[in-house]
Amino acid sequence: MSQPPGQLTFVAPRRAKPARHLADLSMADRRAAVTELGEKAFRADQLSRHYFERLTSDVGSMTDLPAASRETLSALLPELLTPVREMATDGGTTRKTLWRLFDGALVESVLMRYPDRVTMCVSSQAGCGMNCPFCATGQAGLTRNMSTAEIVEQVVSGARALAAGEVPGGPGRVSNVVFMGMGEPLANYKQVIGAVRRLVEPAPQGLGISARGVTVSTVGLVPAIGKLADEGLPVTLALSLHAPDDELRDTLVPINTRWKVAEVLDAAWAYAARTKRRVSIEYALIKDINDQEWRADLLGKLVKNKLVHVNLIPLNPTPGSKWTASRPEDERAFVRRLQFHGVAVTVRDTRGREIDGACGQLAAAE
Ligand code: SAH
Repeated sequence: MSQPPGQLTFVAPRRAKPARHLADLSMADRRAAVTELGEKAFRADQLSRHYFERLTSDVGSMTDLPAASRETLSALLPELLTPVREMATDGGTTRKTLWRLFDGALVESVLMRYPDRVTMCVSSQAGCGMNCPFCATGQAGLTRNMSTAEIVEQVVSGARALAAGEVPGGPGRVSNVVFMGMGEPLANYKQVIGAVRRLVEPAPQGLGISARGVTVSTVGLVPAIGKLADEGLPVTLALSLHAPDDELRDTLVPINTRWKVAEVLDAAWAYAARTKRRVSIEYALIKDINDQEWRADLLGKLVKNKLVHVNLIPLNPTPGSKWTASRPEDERAFVRRLQFHGVAVTVRDTRGREIDGACGQLAAAE
């Protein structure tokens, strides 16, 4: 299902919905759901503790529940993700998992353990409708939106592996979640906000991950950025800019034909003002396409004196793409130009390239 260049898909095809899961529901809705099943409301709290604290979906191990209740309540813990394949690199500290969803749709998530943190990179849609030509996910088109619980389950699965000591470095916890896997999170707004809430709500309501550790990355859906600012969830916003001028950005990030660089940057600054969170500008450096010093200069002028951090990503190779990463000297010059303007800038230490698990490489094929 490859997309013609520049075509955007906002509305996901209508498909059967995944089963309702505990993680789709707020605490109040969980109590209501449990009552509907003929169980006492407090069973929702017990179930939540098992799922969000003990990280288990196995009702057989829930010994504080009567046997008959276990059976009934298992309806709220359907298996949503089936692992198809796991690939690891960096001595086991970077792990990509390919998942099959109930309807056969495929998505991927990536766990990255660093000395001081563990980041889960999750998918929010099967495929993506935003059609950025340098991104493998964008080339496949949009299959469907993921449910809140399908998103949360990716994090729970990583948390489980860490808690069980399956990731080198000893038992650990997920400290960061980035919505930088497959999909455009803000095009699946409602389900993504539900997932963010489940991630940051304290246990046993949710996983208790700090909102500061959660990053939502977007191509720049301007109205949705405004909505996100109003949610009262101080998550980090990452904006995939990739070009400082409309002429080039129209081709690299086709959403730019809808909302221009100036508009999307205004939305980002409003987000920063509202949340007091530094906005991250993502910029994949593509050899001889967007890595000229004059573009660094233009970018520097656009973002200087703002609450911002520029994250440069050496372009990762994707199938069929003619583009490659910038020459090291051009990358250095780009960094220097930004620094000249006093802009905070880092070059992303990209992980997972060996397993097609790096930025822009998730394509989820068997
Ligand atoms: N749709 C959202 C979430 C995906 S995040 C977004 O675009 O922000 C994935 C990040 O990796 C985005 O910044 C994306 O532009 C970037 N990316 C995509 N393809 C890439 C590639 N081949 N090399 C490096 N970065 C890439």
